[in-house]
Amino acid sequence: MSVFDHREFDQHESIHFFHDADTGLRAIIAIHSTALGPAAGGCRRWRYASDNDALTDVLRLSRGMTYKNAVAGLKLGGGKAVILADEQSPKSPELFRALGRAIESLNGHYVTAEDVGITVDDMRYVEEETEYVSGLPKSGNSAGGDPSPLTALGVFLGLKAAVRARLGTESLADLKIAVQGVGHVGLNLCRLLHDAGAKLVVADVNRANLRLASEELPVTVVAPNELLYSDVDVLAPCALGNILTSVTIPHIKAKVIAGAANNQLATEQDGARLAARNILYAPDYVVNAGGIINVAHEYFGHSSEDEVRAEIGRIPERLEAIFAEANETDRPTNVVADELARRIVASGRQKSPAGP
Ligand code: NAD
Repeated sequence: MSVFDHREFDQHESIHFFHDADTGLRAIIAIHSTALGPAAGGCRRWRYASDNDALTDVLRLSRGMTYKNAVAGLKLGGGKAVILADEQSPKSPELFRALGRAIESLNGHYVTAEDVGITVDDMRYVEEETEYVSGLPKSGNSAGGDPSPLTALGVFLGLKAAVRARLGTESLADLKIAVQGVGHVGLNLCRLLHDAGAKLVVADVNRANLRLASEELPVTVVAPNELLYSDVDVLAPCALGNILTSVTIPHIKAKVIAGAANNQLATEQDGARLAARNILYAPDYVVNAGGIINVAHEYFGHSSEDEVRAEIGRIPERLEAIFAEANETDRPTNVVADELARRIVASGRQKSPAGP
């Protein structure tokens, strides 16, 4: 497995491989940038087909976190952790304590929180070993807790801004919206969309999650391999990444794509493919920043949930600026967003040396 000439290696500052013999924990933490502050990004637990797939994921996700945190105006760099799940290393308090010790050994250069496959409870065990953790249970109106409802709020507001820009309507009433994945974020998003009058089409590979969604809300369930091609106005990817590709894009009927999943585009060129089909793509890391905004406010302390919500309320204006620049310069939205993020990181690098 090559690292420095890996196709997703992008000037990452450091990459750390951890193994704990007692629990079987195998984890990779990638620190992409600390130019704006400690590298922050969630921890994902996933059953990867190979170690190389895990490395690919963590390299891409950590760079995405650098961009996400920069565009969200946070004093955080970008990093990510992945745990390679298998039968030998089931979830346990001791496994998460081992992860906590791994994070502690990085001396605050990386701050973790929940991502796919991880819960608030798991983070409590991480916290026993390190202070560099967020997304912990909250109390009262303080910032913190499970970030996914706030991620869903940001996606909802971003999706509305994209609908306004592409379809020219303020209202979601009677719009058909396909949500891929009704997990933590997807289900919360469905609730908000339903309350706004949208008609929902959903799919999930997890039957229990699908049952929860269809018992609570009036949804049309389709097979996972049909969801992307549903005859809908909006597609909201809320499962995993790499779904917008040269193979899938020609068959997508939605006119707007706005969802929570990280790394929705398989390659940068896929943004141009969407633009060529006049599908408005809301860059994933701009719309899904609600969770990390919450995590940042919790980590730096002294914020209320109201302040977090106000900050998440700025996602639409950031998106609108990206849409406007994309229009004026005739470039895809993902390219405009990436350039904006790189400009912010470069200015941070000039101002202060890295570090927590
Ligand atoms: P989750 O694990 O709770 O939910 C993901 C859901 O997608 C699961 O129900 C899973 O079964 C389903 N799924 C997986 N593959 C699928 C497929 N091919 N078709 C349909 N469904 C499929 O995760 P989550 O926390 O809701 O996160 C969803 C996405 O949003 C992830 O990409 C995550 O990285 C991203 N994200 C999450 C947050 C957050 O606050 N949780 C923040 C930013 C970005």
